Amino acid sequence: MRYVSSRNDSIEVDSAKALIQGLSQDGGLFTPLLDNEKIDLSSLTDLSYPELATKIISFFFTDFKEKEILECAKKAYDSKFEDEDIIKLSYARDFSLLELYHGPTSAFKDFALSILPHLLKKAYRKCDCHDKLCILTATSGDTGKAALSAFADVKDTYITVFYPEIGVSDIQKQQMITSKGKNVKVIAVKGNFDDCQKLVKKATTSGIIDKYKNIRFTSANSINIGRLVPQIVYYYAAYLRLVKDKKIAMGDKIDFVVPTGNFGDILAGYLAKQSGLPVRRLVCASNSNNVLTDFFKTGKYDRKRNFINTISPSMDILVSSNLERLLYLVCKDSSMVKKYMNDLDKNGEYTVDEKIMKTINKTFKAYWCSEDECKKIIKTYFQDESLLVDPHTAVAICAFEKYRKETKDQKPCVILSTASPYKFAKEVLDTLGYEINESFAALNLLEEISEVPIPKNLKDLDKAKVRFKETISIKNGMKVIEERLKEIENA
Ligand SMILES: *Cc1c(COP(=O)(O)O)cnc(C)c1O
Repeated sequence: MRYVSSRNDSIEVDSAKALIQGLSQDGGLFTPLLDNEKIDLSSLTDLSYPELATKIISFFFTDFKEKEILECAKKAYDSKFEDEDIIKLSYARDFSLLELYHGPTSAFKDFALSILPHLLKKAYRKCDCHDKLCILTATSGDTGKAALSAFADVKDTYITVFYPEIGVSDIQKQQMITSKGKNVKVIAVKGNFDDCQKLVKKATTSGIIDKYKNIRFTSANSINIGRLVPQIVYYYAAYLRLVKDKKIAMGDKIDFVVPTGNFGDILAGYLAKQSGLPVRRLVCASNSNNVLTDFFKTGKYDRKRNFINTISPSMDILVSSNLERLLYLVCKDSSMVKKYMNDLDKNGEYTVDEKIMKTINKTFKAYWCSEDECKKIIKTYFQDESLLVDPHTAVAICAFEKYRKETKDQKPCVILSTASPYKFAKEVLDTLGYEINESFAALNLLEEISEVPIPKNLKDLDKAKVRFKETISIKNGMKVIEERLKEIENA
C-alpha cells in the first residue's frame, strides 16, 4: 500500500518511509491509498491480540513481512498490559465500553506507542538508514508519557516532549517529568497544545535538520501513520469480541463513539471501516473546544475562538490535524486539501465543499459536552451504575446520550474509554463532591471510595524523582530544538 502527502499526492512513499519521516516535507500528512480490497473478517476469529494486530497492520504496511510485524506485535502487546487479552470490553446498560487504558501509562496512546519503536527499527533496517532519530512530540497530556515510556533508552533514538505548562493534570505532568532514560527530555511550554503541535510541525518542515547530516526528525504524534495504523486493530478486536460474546452476529453493523482531540483515534476507526469492518457510524465527541462539532454541522472549520482549558485536557485542541487526512480520503484531491490548509493557516478557517460534506456526514455524527454535563455524567454513572470513568470517557458517554436522544437509534454501540480515571483523580473526586487539594492523596481516596485498584504505574508516582523542570516560551521553541540537535549530534 502506498502513502501520499495529503497536500501533494505526487509525493508517494511506502509505509517504512512514511514511518521514518512522520510528516511529509510539504507539511502534508501521509495518507494510505486504499483500493477496494477488504480484510476478510472470517479470517480473524480466534486470534490472539498480537496475531490480530499482525493481520491488520500487514494489510496497511505491505512492505513489511507478516513475520516482521508479528515480532513487533509480540514485543508490544505483552504483560505490560494488565489484561491478558490486551483489550478489555465491559458491558453497561446501553452500550459497551472499550477500556483502552490498562497499558503501561494508563491511556489508550499505549496501544500505538508500545509498537512504534519496534516498527521504526524494522523500517530503519528496510531503508538501510543509520541516522540518529530525533523524535519531537507535542502532547496534550497522554501522548507524552506513552512515548517517553516506549522510547526510553531505545538505541540511537532521542525523544523530546513539549507539553502545555497549563492544562495537563497534575498526575499527567508528574508522569512526564519523572521519566527515566538517558535519551529523553521533557519541556513545558508557555502555551497550549496547538502551540506545541505547531512548533513541532514548524521544526520538521523548516530545513534546520539539513545542517545535521546524521540526524533526522520524526514524530510520535498521530501525524505519524505509525500511530494511526496500530489503533485500527482495537476496533476490529472490539467487534470480534462482541461477536464472540454473542452480542452481535458476524457482519452486523455497529457504531463507535470516540472522544476526540487531534482526530487521530476516530480516523483510525474510519480506516477500520474503509478496510472492511462493518461500522455504520462514528460519533465524534468533543468537549467545550467544540470546533469539530461545528465543522460537521456546517462544513466550516473555524479555529478562531477561545481555547478553553477543561477537565478533559487531552481533548483541548483547536487544530485537529488528522481531519486533513479524512478530507483527502473523501475527495482524493490534494490541491483542494492544500487550499483548505492554506486557508486555515492564513485566515484561521476553511469551508469544505458541500459534496464532500455529504459523504462525510454519511458516516460521521458529532456532539459536544459542556463541563457541567461532563461532571454530571461522571457523578450519575458512578452513583447509579457503579461505573467510574475519566472525564474524556464521560464526554464520550454524554455524546452517546445526545446521539441516542436525537436519532432514537438502538444499534449496538461501543464507546471508547481512553484514560484511567486515576490520571484525573482530583478532578473526578471534586465532581463526586470530595474536596481534596493534593493529587496524590486523591489517588488513595479514589481507590477507597471506588474499590477500583490504582494502576501500578501511578502508585508511588509522588515519590519518583523529578528530572525535568524547564519551561520555555513559544518564541524560544526553535532555539531549544537547535540546542537539542547539537546535544544529539555530540551524544
Ligand atoms: C489523546 C486523547 C484523546 C483524543 O484522541 P485523538 O486521537 O487526539 O483524537 C482522548 N482521550 C484521551 C484520554 C487522550 O489521551
